[in-house]
Amino acid sequence: MTLVDTANSILDDIKLAGTWKGERPISSSQSNMVRATLENGQSREVVNFCANNYLGLANNRELIEAAKFALDSHGFGMASVRFICGTQDLHKDLERRTAQFLGMEDCIVFPSCFDANGGIFEPLLTADDAIISDSLNHASIIDGVRLCKAERHRYANNDMAELEEKLIATQHCNNRLIVTDGVFSMDGIIADLPTICSLAESYDAMIMVDDCHATGFLGSRGAGTPEFLGVEGRVHILTGTYGKALGGASGGYVAGPEAIIEVLRQRARPYLFSNAVAPSICAAAIKAIEIAEGANEARETLEANATRFRKGMEKAGFRLVDGNHPIIPVMIGDADLAGKVAEGLFHKGIYVVAFSYPVVPEGKARIRIQMSAIHTFEQIDACIAAFTEVGRESGLVS
Ligand SMILES: *Cc1c(COP(=O)(O)O)cnc(C)c1O
Repeated sequence: MTLVDTANSILDDIKLAGTWKGERPISSSQSNMVRATLENGQSREVVNFCANNYLGLANNRELIEAAKFALDSHGFGMASVRFICGTQDLHKDLERRTAQFLGMEDCIVFPSCFDANGGIFEPLLTADDAIISDSLNHASIIDGVRLCKAERHRYANNDMAELEEKLIATQHCNNRLIVTDGVFSMDGIIADLPTICSLAESYDAMIMVDDCHATGFLGSRGAGTPEFLGVEGRVHILTGTYGKALGGASGGYVAGPEAIIEVLRQRARPYLFSNAVAPSICAAAIKAIEIAEGANEARETLEANATRFRKGMEKAGFRLVDGNHPIIPVMIGDADLAGKVAEGLFHKGIYVVAFSYPVVPEGKARIRIQMSAIHTFEQIDACIAAFTEVGRESGLVS
């Protein structure tokens, strides 16, 4: 058996399990409507409900202009990591602006949030420390934690009693860091930060929140879950991405106390050994923060859109995960069926994606709808109508 034979057998297993993840090339810019490719190679316009484009900034004119301007003034690429010759004024501006936006002392930009989460733990925590992590945390946190020598403890999703048990069980440790997603990306569930903050304060632990699915649109200024839940200043470290609401290109960050950020500049491996984020992306991300800060109207629209969709779908008889976040999972169960429902919707002009194992637990396949501020009520109603038709055909609803 060669490695290629092994690969083929892995691929057969994936297909058999119905968890194959295909890619559908889009030939337009990312927006509420996209031109997507069909199986026969032709393409059609579909309403897009699966982007992390919460504020609709992915093809925003002002961002594009800011990026174009920076292409002319600062060039295309850096051809260097940050500490050699890959730091421009734009990188420093973006870091300053991000820290200010989030109400944090300092900020360090990584090539992605995957890298930020991959790089944060290992330089800061030793075998004398403990990480206490929510069981639904993002894969990048799980991988980052694996790279460090600290004790690892896990609590069930948002289970505050279990978190407290773990805090009691780790009192012998030097530093304890509670790590949670601000919003759990497969369910749209928001972390119970008020309780986490109280527990951390009682047990003298620190808190890190990965706010990828919140920054820019949750909270009155879009500063994310701490602002949304009224615990600003009580979360010590925030990680996040420029690759979702803030323009959707790429780049991630860690924001927090100056000394922690400086250690990451000195030691975090994805920062030291990976190329600097492109100048045009930095310039556009700065513009995205400026827009997000003032985007009260877009945030209200986003909330109204999510509410309309949730109500309509519940009325039609679908099972959702409760909440008020623009991530709205429609639970299907069977992976194969979820794939077929998504396919059926696509042919009715609604672009959604089915998520199955290993992205979600086995038997909990779902279609994750993501609302954007740029969706219209007509598009949302069309989505509900299409779901209802496909749902009836497949026996999901009556
Ligand atoms: C998307 C996401 C990431 C990864 O961010 P990138 O910048 O795309 O690497 C990390 N954590 C969470 C919770 C996410 O949703």
